[in-house]
Amino acid sequence: MTELERKQDRAPIPSRWEYATAPESREIVSLRERYGHFVGGEWLEPAESYQTIDPASEEPLAEVGQATDEEVQLAVRTAQDAFENGWSALPGSERAKYLYRIARILQERSREFAVLESLNGGKPIRESRDVDLPLSAAHFFYYAGWADKLEYAFPNRKPRPLGVAGQIIPWNFPLLMLAWKIAPALAAGNTVVLKPAETTPLSALLFCDVLRQAELPPGVVNIVTGDGRAGAALVKSDVAKIAFTGSTEVGKAIQRELAGTGKKLTLELGGKAANVIFDDAALDQAVEGIVNGIYFNQGHVCCAGSRLLVQESIYEPVISKLKRRLGTLRVGDPLDKNTDVGAINSRQQLDKIQELVRSGEEEGAEIYQPPCRLPEKGYWFVPTVFTNVAQSYRIAQEEIFGPVLSVLTFRTPDEAVEKANNTPYGLSAGVWTEKGSRILSMAQRLRAGVIWANTYNRFDPSSPFGGYRESGFGREGGLHGLEPYLDFE
Ligand code: NAD
Repeated sequence: MTELERKQDRAPIPSRWEYATAPESREIVSLRERYGHFVGGEWLEPAESYQTIDPASEEPLAEVGQATDEEVQLAVRTAQDAFENGWSALPGSERAKYLYRIARILQERSREFAVLESLNGGKPIRESRDVDLPLSAAHFFYYAGWADKLEYAFPNRKPRPLGVAGQIIPWNFPLLMLAWKIAPALAAGNTVVLKPAETTPLSALLFCDVLRQAELPPGVVNIVTGDGRAGAALVKSDVAKIAFTGSTEVGKAIQRELAGTGKKLTLELGGKAANVIFDDAALDQAVEGIVNGIYFNQGHVCCAGSRLLVQESIYEPVISKLKRRLGTLRVGDPLDKNTDVGAINSRQQLDKIQELVRSGEEEGAEIYQPPCRLPEKGYWFVPTVFTNVAQSYRIAQEEIFGPVLSVLTFRTPDEAVEKANNTPYGLSAGVWTEKGSRILSMAQRLRAGVIWANTYNRFDPSSPFGGYRESGFGREGGLHGLEPYLDFE
């Protein structure tokens, strides 16, 4: 074919582009067969262990320790020694250097951590790469900046570290939750024993390598792995403070356990956030915000916008745009860079989602799921929308912690506020409108710790995060996030 013929070739423009996978290589991660607990800068051989798996394939990834009471106590004593013998007396500017180092190493090794986070947790690599890793590093950078300025941050209050902080985290943002906990604790001069969630211990164990690389003094950060039994042992141990992120049920049990002990406590618990769309909102952007609000990280997000409140006059266009958009979401291999919705974190979580979705259908809500082919192995759930939802339904009241949206409607701002606040939780909310005054008035009336306007699920280390009522108490992030790690005169 000559050049001229090629230009005149009238081959039809393809109406549909074939999808080509773009898998991230997992070669960059080298896992050991077996991990112990990280205590005093060394690996402690665990007495008991279990397999951690890849939820997208159900393949085992490594064997990790199930910490016994004695192992947890040893970690706490080690952290105490490290606190008393050097760390608490170190000038803030020296502590800051370690935090900066950790932040920089996380940036350097971010691809490795992102792949591991997706392998062990099931989240899309696009999210681990673009959200979890940059935010984790940003947290260490941010708190490094405060370490030598505590006297200025809390003038005339003589801030002092507490001692050993016991920290217990969930599986939805394993490395990011670790960063939220460890960075402020170290900046304030405490030492740490952290327990990651049982299904996602691997990024915390790889982080021990970062601690060694940064030459953090042994015993300043200790990591013990295992399920709730290890968490309960940490709560009972001789720590000065417990920082817990997880379910409301376990949070309440911890609060009961600590009552009267004088130990400090912060609880970051569940949520059932309202995402409120007014009729003057930019609809296409709002639909993107709805999708980001509930399908980000498979809906395994405590602040997920799981209750959509749409003003009645725009109900039809919003729902039809939303359904169309749902059809374009790609569910599947978490390591594929095209994937929008990855694997559900565990069989147990999948069972919980399925049970609540069944209850929604039985109670009379209308279910919509786009056509979607799911992989044969692993734990998966199709992005789901429920319409015709009454406020009393379980799917409108209980946290599903999965890719399931419940849609309700309202006519007036008063009705929106009433419905949004009709929940035992109070972690977050979203408001979509073009009127600044309406944003401000809604923000004052919605009972939630975080309120996003014309956006959703945005995080920044300088911005405090936390809830009211059954969503817990205490704040993480920002200056507020330092206070629970300090004593004052
Ligand atoms: P979970 O409460 O079962 O587990 C959280 C952590 O607590 C895990 O490490 C677990 O091993 C440990 N644990 C379990 N039982 C314990 C006990 N008796 N004593 C001490 N520790 C114990 O919660 P989950 O299912 O892993 O996480 C999902 C929940 O976490 C959701 O409800 C979600 O909303 C919440 N969450 C909240 C935030 C927030 O910042 N508010 C962030 C992420 C997740």
